[in-house]
Amino acid sequence: MAERVAVTDGLNWPRLGEECGVVGIWGHPDAPRMCLWALYALQHRGQESAGMAVSDGVRIRYHRGMGLVAEVFPRGVPEQLRGQAAVGHVRYSTMGASVLSNAQPLFIRFRHGDLALAHNGNLVNAPHVRQQLEDAGSIFQTTLDTEVVAHLVARYCARGDELPEALSRAMRELRGGYALLMMTPTSLIGARDPHGIRPLSLGRLEEGWVMASETCAFDAIGATFEREVEPGEIVVISHEGLRTLRGQEPMQPALCIFEFIYFARPDSNLRGMNVHAVRKELGRQLAREHPADADLVTGVPDSSISAASGYAEEAGLAYEMGLVKNRYVGRTFIQPDQQTRDLGVRLKLNALRKVVEGKRVVMVDDSIVRGTTSSYIVRLLREAGAREVHLRISSPPYRYSCFYGIDTSARAELIAARSSVEEIRKQVGADSLGYLSIDGLLKAVRGTRQEYCLACFTGEYPVPIPQGLGKASLEEVRGYQGD
Ligand code: AMP
Repeated sequence: MAERVAVTDGLNWPRLGEECGVVGIWGHPDAPRMCLWALYALQHRGQESAGMAVSDGVRIRYHRGMGLVAEVFPRGVPEQLRGQAAVGHVRYSTMGASVLSNAQPLFIRFRHGDLALAHNGNLVNAPHVRQQLEDAGSIFQTTLDTEVVAHLVARYCARGDELPEALSRAMRELRGGYALLMMTPTSLIGARDPHGIRPLSLGRLEEGWVMASETCAFDAIGATFEREVEPGEIVVISHEGLRTLRGQEPMQPALCIFEFIYFARPDSNLRGMNVHAVRKELGRQLAREHPADADLVTGVPDSSISAASGYAEEAGLAYEMGLVKNRYVGRTFIQPDQQTRDLGVRLKLNALRKVVEGKRVVMVDDSIVRGTTSSYIVRLLREAGAREVHLRISSPPYRYSCFYGIDTSARAELIAARSSVEEIRKQVGADSLGYLSIDGLLKAVRGTRQEYCLACFTGEYPVPIPQGLGKASLEEVRGYQGD
């Protein structure tokens, strides 16, 4: 797959925003450093901004900035961030919202003292709730959904609730997919939406606790996986230990299937399954559904490599490194004109002539969003001498915008929303094109339509989408007559 790259990197990838990574550490003498390492492990979930808030038991201090974790924390943890608890955040955002004031964790000072919030996901009714709060006099400083949560929580606390109960009330008003971490000077609280759309896991440190979007963050800091935070659950950790309460009754489970397909790191586990192993199975299934007369299989680095190796194994073909990615092309590659943009792409990805020349190549990618990447890579392979290029996609056609934390391009930009498979094949210039079926996808994740959010493929949204939300209106969504 094309690794998610920042909107400014000159590669003109789709702007798929708002997917983020969160981590919270509790009760560790070196919590800020643990938090920083975990943020490094979660970097793939967001490269636009990073930040960390630390509690010393009395007050909270924070540091946030635009860019990669290494850019925001060039000399490690800043001197002033000392304490035994921390929350961290990495964010990938749409361009409009890509400003420092929107970097997280969000920090507020309210009636009960300091509060830091870090949030992954999207609240579909945030604009509505925000309007109501503003009408009642609230003043907002960011355009983040997270701030809506903060205001709701502060309002219920002002009416006498303790923080976890205030959060529980807030959750009943909120709709969408989210994994949320809140920290006061004396507690760390984690919560997950009632469908469990966005992931959040709980782990144990030798001293203390950790909650994070992905288990790869646990490995990075030597924590052991305890369990996933359950849909609708609130986990409260303080000096009294860990307690859990039902923030909201769990609803039909709907973990985002795209976590398996693209977002999560291959060394993470979700629902007890290793992401790499699932991706390999996606590839195997794809090979069964769409075999190809070919000489070798290659994957688009990085995360399509798991699926490509599964395809190769199942097809009895060699897996080869047909594409090489340069991991050091920075984010700040400016794109003044098309020529520079094309050069930027060439810097980032190259085909290995020695491997593909004269060969019939199966090229596996995890998804096609607008079709830009596929067109480019097919061309690249042909220019390097590939005789045939058979494109295989380890997910079904991506037809509907996501409203729960991925915020893909508007529907009009999704190539599969307006074109048939054959039309897409022609547009990207491949000799053949095959997408994994929904049934094949479900087989690989060992689940049913009732256990995952498949909205980007089926248009069946587990949480109703308010009219006119985002770039695609509900009419647009409903009006679609797919093939
Ligand atoms: P496109 O070039 O618009 O067809 O985008 C497809 C490419 O983007 C594939 O190589 C995917 O690996 C990658 N991709 C898929 N989902 C996302 C996402 N949410 N953010 C960034 N890139 C993505």
